[in-house]
Amino acid sequence: MPPRWRKVCGAQAAVTAMCFSPSSAPESVQEFLIDGNIYYGRTGAAGEGGHMTIDYKGPRCGCGKLGCVEALVAGPAIAKRARAKIEAQPSAGTALLQLAGGNLDLLTSENVGKAYANGDPLAREVLLDTVELLAICLAT
Ligand SMILES: [Zn+2]
Repeated sequence: MPPRWRKVCGAQAAVTAMCFSPSSAPESVQEFLIDGNIYYGRTGAAGEGGHMTIDYKGPRCGCGKLGCVEALVAGPAIAKRARAKIEAQPSAGTALLQLAGGNLDLLTSENVGKAYANGDPLAREVLLDTVELLAICLAT
């Protein structure tokens, strides 16, 4: 564990790594690494953070809570945010709309990633918003 982390957080032990994977993944792993020890939790989901609230005024998640990580940063949430930005600025969403075959309803987070890789400014904005939300999650 980097000594700097201990100094910053002032804790006896600090979380040095959290692994996230979709809970639907066949070999889903959600654990913590603390002081070199892996903590799985009783059900193997000690690090499950998808339903941690990061914006209590956020959208309702499939679990029923408001502003869960999953409701804000999962693929469907990224696509939804991109759709909203395209509807607000149609001329800026040309590349993304093209990747979705001209149908905004078919836009996916994968399209956003491809557009970002191609240098699309609107896709970049969407992913930067996502990074900000993930940073809130990791800092919580
Ligand atoms: Zn949830």
